[in-house]
Amino acid sequence: MNAPDTLGTPVTVRADPLLLTPGPLTTSAATKAAMLHDRGSWDAAFNEITAEVCADLLSIVHGQGSHVCVPMQGSGTFAVEAALGTLVPRDGRVLVPNNGAYCERILRILAVLRRESVELRFDESEPVDAARLEAALQADPGITHVAFVHCETGTGMLNPLQAVAEAVARQGRRLIVDAMSSFGVLPIDVREGAIEAVVSASGKCLEGVPGMGFVIARRESLEAAAGVSHSLALDLHDQWRYLQRTTQWRFTPPTHVVAALREALSQYRAEGGLAARRGRYADNCAVLVAGMRRLGFEPFLPQALQAPIIVTFRAPTHPAWRFDLLYARMRDRGFLLYPGKLTRVDTFRVGCIGAIGRLDIDAMIAAMAETLDELGIVPGA
Ligand SMILES: *Cc1c(COP(=O)(O)O)cnc(C)c1O
Repeated sequence: MNAPDTLGTPVTVRADPLLLTPGPLTTSAATKAAMLHDRGSWDAAFNEITAEVCADLLSIVHGQGSHVCVPMQGSGTFAVEAALGTLVPRDGRVLVPNNGAYCERILRILAVLRRESVELRFDESEPVDAARLEAALQADPGITHVAFVHCETGTGMLNPLQAVAEAVARQGRRLIVDAMSSFGVLPIDVREGAIEAVVSASGKCLEGVPGMGFVIARRESLEAAAGVSHSLALDLHDQWRYLQRTTQWRFTPPTHVVAALREALSQYRAEGGLAARRGRYADNCAVLVAGMRRLGFEPFLPQALQAPIIVTFRAPTHPAWRFDLLYARMRDRGFLLYPGKLTRVDTFRVGCIGAIGRLDIDAMIAAMAETLDELGIVPGA
């Protein structure tokens, strides 16, 4: 394995804190260095970079024969909104299995876009159940699409993409996958099932910097979607047509972000692609959970439901516990943690993704032990 250049570098020699967050995340020095150039948006050299990036992204989910890749300026949510607004017709109806904050966000987007939605609720501690989803589709033939979150980053839950894709295909509906925090790490194959679109962004598991999203969309569906979008800037069909016609982005592209993503993708390939990245993140996750357990912390999810992306830990019930104090002292030691996103349980999160390896996680666990000592907190006591 040809590891990215910062892997295993002791945290003491880093210029920046380690970002144990689900994006932005820690990027390699080479990825940062790719941004040290100014590029013209109509220049052939830049358009070549865009084409390479799109071809690479398409191949990660095996979409070369059936799908196209459309990049979109902005954070991941912009791309989710562009996909829903362009691919769901105005009289469509979308089933949203909901087991967390990012599923909730899809429901909000659909409400703003005035697309009808049907919520299928699950507890935050429970994965989406494909059988219940299929029954809901059978019960309501008016549902045209399912919008599904692959890894629910709010908890770190792995939702069962393959079973859901098969159920949606059997029922003859179309599936839009928010694969924001799973793309490039958990296998996705758009040749199977009814996958209409997969949405992700530059600054998550591909280890680029934030600033662009992308949608891998079924070609025929996108071709049929002219004039559907409620929005000019987020019209995926128009963005794609313009790109096809001119090789350029429709409006000012995030040139530095695109260049950084190309560099990050070449490191992804050099590392060994999806299997290698998945292996490294699974290792980070295992080392993290074991180390935190030794300190007395309990993960919110059982191991079997945990995606190797981000881990939610229950906050200790110790009277001296305050996440903001822990956060500040961990930041001073060079580690950025992430607050929890659960409504009913007090939690915090630690990411396993980014250009980091198990030595970084070990260093974080050591810093955590010191911090708990200083604060006089004994988790689990
Ligand atoms: C990060 C993320 C998004 C997009 O969030 P932004 O803040 O817009 O980048 C959407 N869905 C999931 C599951 C995510 O992890």
